[in-house]
Amino acid sequence: MTARIIDGKAISQEVRAEWKIRADALKARGVTPGLAVIIVGEDPASKVYVGNKVKACAELGIFSEHIELPADTSEATLLGKIAQLNADARIHGILVQLPVPKHIDSNKVLLAISPDKDVDGFHPMNVGELVTGHAKFQPCTPFGVMCLLEKCGVAIEGKHAVVVGRSNIVGKPMALMLLQKNATVTICTSKTVDLAKFTRDADILVVATGKPKMITGDMIKPGAAVIDVGINRLPNGKLAGDVDFDSAKEIAGWISPVPGGVGPMTITMLVASTVMAAERTIK
Ligand code: NDP
Repeated sequence: MTARIIDGKAISQEVRAEWKIRADALKARGVTPGLAVIIVGEDPASKVYVGNKVKACAELGIFSEHIELPADTSEATLLGKIAQLNADARIHGILVQLPVPKHIDSNKVLLAISPDKDVDGFHPMNVGELVTGHAKFQPCTPFGVMCLLEKCGVAIEGKHAVVVGRSNIVGKPMALMLLQKNATVTICTSKTVDLAKFTRDADILVVATGKPKMITGDMIKPGAAVIDVGINRLPNGKLAGDVDFDSAKEIAGWISPVPGGVGPMTITMLVASTVMAAERTIK
């Protein structure tokens, strides 16, 4: 079997077009959705991510404010900036690009963002609402994975979904979102004994470990939907996922490539969340 490829770029364009319609409808009612992105320091990868976020906003006609603060910015200054944005009616979503420099407590930063503007869904209140099944904001990467599954028509209810990885930004929220859609969910970690026993039983396998090509074709159930969240730079400079694409595509029913799978969806869902946040202000 050769898997159908999940084209994250094409799906991302389709989803952006859908959200542009909603953004335009808001603008017609006098509300332009607005996203503020704060970056502290000079991390080159973070700068690229922030640039892409600002570009995506422009594509949808969303207002964006890009705030660059020097690496030695104090925690108090950053928290003060967030407080200003919390009070700014033009801004519906606030995102602080992580990681922040070590002298800043990232937990305090997440707590400072108003839960109503927390488009990343990392504030404990939004995490709690995700747990109880009433999420206002969902972390963008797993939200993007759910969107890919939906757009490809992959059935979730009653299926066994295995999530490999339990980070707060991908693995845990991913598992909760799949549970919310009535999958039977297993979470695997670096401490899982006999990982392949679980992955081979997965109808839906989501991998987010940061370990290049660790899931090979022989660890996959024939016909499974395999979503590779990993983005790893190999010594030869190429990007690779956490799934060994070449062997996995021979066994899986669906597979997301790296690059061009989950990656493009993350920013799309961020923009979608910003539009949603703006919609809530007039409902
Ligand atoms: P973290 O490092 O925070 O978490 C990795 C998780 O994988 C941990 O829970 C760890 O387990 C688990 N893990 C590591 N090795 C194994 C193993 N051998 N078997 C089973 N589980 C294992 O990573 P993130 O969740 O932040 O990111 C994961 C990957 O996704 C990275 O490649 C990252 O670049 C990518 N990513 C991509 C995004 C996108 O937009 N497409 C967005 C965010 C991340 P334990 O808890 O036991 O240590």
